[in-house]
Amino acid sequence: MKDRRLLMIPGPIEFEPAVMQAMGAPTTSHIAPNFIEAFGQAIERMREVFLCPDGQPFIVAGSGTLAMDLAGANLIEPGDKALVINTGYFGDRYGNLLARYGAEVTHLRAPIGDRPSLGAVETALAGGGFKLMTVTHVDTSTGVITDVEGLAKLARAHGALCVVDGVCSVAGETLRMTDWGVDLALTASQKAVGTPPGLALVVAGPRAMDAFKARKTPVANYYADWANWLPIMEAYEARSVSYFGTPAVNLVAALNVSLGIILDEGMDSRFARHQLVSKACKAAIKALGLGQVPVSDAVAATTMTAPRFPEGVTKGDLLPRVKAAGVVLAGGLHPEIKSEYFRIGHMGSVSQGDLLAVVGAIETGLAACDYPFDTGAGVAAAMEVFAS
Ligand code: PMP
Repeated sequence: MKDRRLLMIPGPIEFEPAVMQAMGAPTTSHIAPNFIEAFGQAIERMREVFLCPDGQPFIVAGSGTLAMDLAGANLIEPGDKALVINTGYFGDRYGNLLARYGAEVTHLRAPIGDRPSLGAVETALAGGGFKLMTVTHVDTSTGVITDVEGLAKLARAHGALCVVDGVCSVAGETLRMTDWGVDLALTASQKAVGTPPGLALVVAGPRAMDAFKARKTPVANYYADWANWLPIMEAYEARSVSYFGTPAVNLVAALNVSLGIILDEGMDSRFARHQLVSKACKAAIKALGLGQVPVSDAVAATTMTAPRFPEGVTKGDLLPRVKAAGVVLAGGLHPEIKSEYFRIGHMGSVSQGDLLAVVGAIETGLAACDYPFDTGAGVAAAMEVFAS
């Protein structure tokens, strides 16, 4: 039988058939006219999806960590001070990455499941001389969302560049780079952008590009150096070609298809759909009597949900049963609470039907674990949100 399990982890996600068709099309030369057009169009569409009309997009083969690296390598010089707004595993990663380029890194942390307050961030920035502040929009290890708009405003006021790790957010969570004053946002293809894994996606705003151009030292990472990639992006956008490294031809073509689908839906409709599905998911989890890692609704992401296992039920008990019921979910990631929770991704092309299937499979799994609950309570709670 065809593998019809629904992949509902926080990336990779389920991809649109048209995107998969582009992946499976015969690979052309990277200088073929059709590919030049697709690459050029993808660069233009990135600006629209990131809501940054004057930004410089970079599309480079690699995972989301390379996107983080592109920002770090090009914006940090040895001795620069960087502030990491740390809401979990990926904040730790960003701090380690920046330190590798010689940054003096300060982490501002909150208890697991929470985020540092704007007041605490302001105090840290005021004390600081920071060149750059990183913010993880949604930390995939905790499901906590940060207030990027408020944080970017503070960074701007204190003269720090605001770099947003939007790997679990871009094209799902509301993110308005230009309006909010975000200087760089980055993501990976396999999440809400809706393209198989393998592309690092960055949009650098004017202040970030100015900081790059004002560097006094060479970029320490040869592959990531914007001096190598900027001429390539400019050439493809001008519908010509320049070579540095062979582009991931099929992935770029697939990305262009996916960005087209995203823009056809419209960014505001897309954000609203993600909010509705998330609200339904969280209502269902609550109705089943399960807690969540984020300490409140206000700090919970809309691209994913991080429910806690109920007393007496483990990952090994529940997730294989949910999978047998047709839905693949992810275990925990944050090292300190890894065994205490699981993760549901609901981003990209996710529909109301997908979410009801997820909740139904969780209920089936919980029942098989002998967890006591009112059968159908989760599905009913989700349907109620959809009906409202
Ligand atoms: N940042 C965040 C918030 C992520 O969720 C991830 C991936 N889960 C990454 C960075 C790293 O991306 P990748 O695994 O594609 O390198």
